Amino acid sequence: MKPLGLYIHIPFCKRKCNYCDFLSWGNTKKEDHTAYVEALLAELQYYADQDMLLDSVYIGGGTPSLLERDLILRIMEGVTGSFALSEDAEITIEANPGLLDLDKLMAYRRAGINRLSLGAQSLNDEILHFMGRIHKSNTFIDNFYLARDCGFENISADLIFAVPGQTVELWIDSLEKAISLGAEHISFYSLQIEEGTPFYGLWEKGAMKAVDDETDRRMYHEALKRLKNKGYVHYEISNAAMPGFESRHNLKYWSMEEYLGVGLGSHYYINGTRFSNETNLEKYLRISKGVKEGREVCNDPLSYLAPWVVWHHKNTEVDEISEFLFTGLRKIEGISLSAFEERFGKPVTAVYENAIGKHSRTGLLELNMKEDRLRLTAKGLDLFNQVLVDFV
Ligand code: SF4
Repeated sequence: MKPLGLYIHIPFCKRKCNYCDFLSWGNTKKEDHTAYVEALLAELQYYADQDMLLDSVYIGGGTPSLLERDLILRIMEGVTGSFALSEDAEITIEANPGLLDLDKLMAYRRAGINRLSLGAQSLNDEILHFMGRIHKSNTFIDNFYLARDCGFENISADLIFAVPGQTVELWIDSLEKAISLGAEHISFYSLQIEEGTPFYGLWEKGAMKAVDDETDRRMYHEALKRLKNKGYVHYEISNAAMPGFESRHNLKYWSMEEYLGVGLGSHYYINGTRFSNETNLEKYLRISKGVKEGREVCNDPLSYLAPWVVWHHKNTEVDEISEFLFTGLRKIEGISLSAFEERFGKPVTAVYENAIGKHSRTGLLELNMKEDRLRLTAKGLDLFNQVLVDFV
């Protein structure tokens, strides 16, 4: 059976955070959630194909934990009714502190969800308030322990640094509190001020200053140092985990393995082709209804050109190679030279002779034939974008 990852998008949040440009909305009602899950189930059913073996499922958003407990159970029934699941499949749900309770967590466990990605973002109440988060740091801590009591043995704490107004000391304090809880996985992303967000408006008017690059890098390196000291393995630019707890689903993205995406605005990669789903909620719901009622023209599900798809692109060999490089170099172990050659029939050093030569000289890349690796150096991790332009 063909192994596959599955991403499921839930586009609802309690309210929109001040920095967020993800495809999600706040202030939604139970009826909206129910209608959306019905549509999702139609999409899952469309792909029903027992020749696919899901080894990772990721329910992300938005805020999946906002959904009523029974709706998550129905989604999981839709997944298991449409696909075979490997026995040790990693099944993650993203959850926001303040939107979890014993009842939900126990139901997740019963449904087979075995990994929780908890959006802590910060453990400082002022920073959380400034970011427009709905929770306080204690809520995160309480939810973390509640999840443990419910049997979650794989919890990721998601943190953000370089928030305007955040000092290096405040960042370290948040990180250390998350580490001290014993989270198996910690992600740590630098805040980007995205167009169209309230933060962007403040920044544009000069009412808010972005954290300068030097402070941003100090925060990043402080995180790396502390995580490594506590036994975490830094395995991707912005992710660290206790050995064996690396995110299997996200590693698929960084290793160019195949995954299917369902739900509003989902992206996926199968058979060397990139697909994107409809981003307009009304249209998405209408298409699902049409599929259920037999009014939509449906291609062979195995072509993955489903009625929800609004864009697709069959990668050329050049696309495949450059994507393999720029996703693979995000991993700290980099790419395997032999895996590259096996996949593309030529050595990476022949395709990117100039770029590899240039960045080996600048000290941003390391080519290690003995270890079968091409990877970023510590300096290269800070200047990833400079390396990237030569591989795209
Ligand atoms: S909870 Fe997450 S997805 Fe929702 S608005 Fe906040 S950052 Fe965006």
